[in-house]
Amino acid sequence: MASEKTDALVLRTIEFSETSLVVVLLTRQFGKSSALAKGARRAKGPFEGALDLLSICRVVIIPKSGDTLDLLTEAKLQRRFRAGERNLGRLYAGYYVAELLREMTDRGDPHPDLYDLALETLEELDGETDVRACLLRFELQTLRLLGHAPTIDRCAACGSEVPEGGRFGFGVTSGGVLCAACRPATRQVVLLRGATRETLRSLLSEAAVSGPPPPVPAELHGELRGVINRYITNLLGGPPRMQSYLAAASPTIDGQGRRR
Ligand SMILES: [Zn+2]
Repeated sequence: MASEKTDALVLRTIEFSETSLVVVLLTRQFGKSSALAKGARRAKGPFEGALDLLSICRVVIIPKSGDTLDLLTEAKLQRRFRAGERNLGRLYAGYYVAELLREMTDRGDPHPDLYDLALETLEELDGETDVRACLLRFELQTLRLLGHAPTIDRCAACGSEVPEGGRFGFGVTSGGVLCAACRPATRQVVLLRGATRETLRSLLSEAAVSGPPPPVPAELHGELRGVINRYITNLLGGPPRMQSYLAAASPTIDGQGRRR
């Protein structure tokens, strides 16, 4: 089968044999790929240490069909994720980004826009951008790009318009805001402030997919973090492993997060 050249982000590396790795990649052109990298564990192998978690590479892949692993024949490092050298919170945030991408994307289902968002997010985590706003933008835009965005304007249960202002109900399992009529009959409802709805709307807007993330007011962060954690947990059928480490992704507790 013909080989394919593409840009890729390393989402996981697994030791496969004395000399080889299996790598899970998010490729820009072909979506997720699990590929065998023969010789990747040799000091002087064909990949020259390019295959680290969250590295961005230019790769050559020979795709296989069915459950067979793709073959990775080349990887040239473009950029390494360095945030962890400075700050544990930023490192955990990077691991969380990798986990969400692994869990939420599929083989052979490319989303170049999501790939670009992931690269921009990692660059921000590597820099000085507020980690909390950066992660919330990444999560909400990922949900939007993959067709899982919560509804913000209309009731997730009956479709009627939900008036602005004041507290409102958000149905974690029903998929978004709820009208006053549907709220009492719905399970797993979180009550949120009106300003939180505004922030959700700006984080989900198409314009927010690139450029600096929309600001998240400090007093709303806890509420937003809580509801997005529950929303993603429901979507994935369980909490992401890195979710409990996100508390460390705060600029006020640099480097103080718990170790795994
Ligand atoms: Zn309703």
